Formats: sequence, C-alpha cells, structure tokens
Amino acid sequence: MTFSNFSLDSRIVAGIKDCGYETPTPIQQQAIPLVLQGHDVMGLAQTGTGKTAAFALPILQRLLTGNKSERAIPRVLVLAPTRELALQILENFRDLGKHARVRSAAVIGGVAMNPQIQAFGHSQVIVACPGRLVRLLSKGAVNLNHIDTLVLDEADRMLDMGFMPDIKRILAKLPARRQNLLFSATMPADIRKLADKILNNPKTVQV
Ligand code: AMP
Repeated sequence: MTFSNFSLDSRIVAGIKDCGYETPTPIQQQAIPLVLQGHDVMGLAQTGTGKTAAFALPILQRLLTGNKSERAIPRVLVLAPTRELALQILENFRDLGKHARVRSAAVIGGVAMNPQIQAFGHSQVIVACPGRLVRLLSKGAVNLNHIDTLVLDEADRMLDMGFMPDIKRILAKLPARRQNLLFSATMPADIRKLADKILNNPKTVQV
C-alpha cells in the first residue's frame, strides 16, 4: 500500500513528501480510509506508530473539500494531555498542511493568553490541553460553535491526569453533529465508558 491509495489532494501529498514519509504505517493504513469516509474511530495505538498523521491527513483532506467560506473558523479540535504532545501534534498538522494553507493553533498553559486567543480565531485546527481551553471558554474568549471534528489523543493519559471534568465541560460546548476520533494506548473500563459516551457506531483500529 502507498499514500496514493487514499486519493489525497495533491497539496497534502506535497506535505507528506516534505515530511519524508514513503509508506503509510499500519495505523495509517487502517485509520485514514475510515476517517475519510466520515466514521467515528476508536484507535488503539501508542506514540511512535504514526497515529498523529493517521488522523491529521484525513482531517486535512476533509478541510480542503469543505465549505471555503468557513476556512478561517476553528473546525477541528484535538485534545491532548500535555503541552509537549500538543506542540508535537501542532507541528505535524503544520508540516503536513503547509501546502494546503491550513492554519492551526495551540491552546496550552504556561504562555500568554491574548496571542493564543487571536490565533484561535484565525485557525481551522485547534490543538488544546483541556485545562487551558476550559479557561478560555469560561472567559468567553473563544467559542467552539463550528467544530465538526473532535479528536481525543492519548485519552487514557488525559483521564489519568484528572481531565475528565474539563473534557465534559468542553463536550458540552461542541455541536452535537460531528465526527469523533478517540486514540488511546490502553483500553481500561473508564476509556470504554468515555468511548461509549462520545463515539457513534465507531470503527475500531488497532496496532
Ligand atoms: P507519532 O506516533 O504520530 O508520534 O509519530 C511518530 C513519528 O513517526 C513522527 O516523527 C512522525 O513524523 C513519523 N511518521 C509518521 N508517519 C510516518 C510514515 N508514514 N513514514 C515515516 N515516518 C512517519
């Protein structure tokens, strides 16, 4: 299998080339077609498997085929447990989406809020840590009214770190109609419960 199997836009293929990716990893082979088809997906995969591009590539593709007038509005929300992971995900989206001119921003703690709020309003992809996003929401500084794709990355770590209450607050602010992707390295009972709550008829992929 090669990346050309997925019929991705040439601007995304150019991003893949820039990153030096030659063949899709197993999680990418499984997840990319399902996400492109619009399914909710439960992905059981560790960091290092290429799971970020497994969701970033089909999300970028769907952004390109979406309504152009909504291009500068946050449409995709990725939640991640730590600043480091959020910044890695952001970098991956930026590298892969560079030629497609998809804009992305991070919402993480430990940095000034105002530039973050500015960038939020001009980005289609938001990669956020739950705590800082809840803070911006409760200040009324940002809204999630046009999010149509939600990704929970390293969901097991987010629950271990006590983010469930923040995740619930964020979920309450999202439109009901959306595509949901949940990635986790492990599948304990609380992740199963979260998956039941968030995912609609999910397809499961595992590496
Ligand atoms: P991740 O599991 O998403 O953290 O990715 C682990 C590393 O693999 C990152 O440095 C990615 O840039 C890289 N990577 C992702 N997909 C591929 C691929 N298809 N071929 C080669 N490297 C990849």
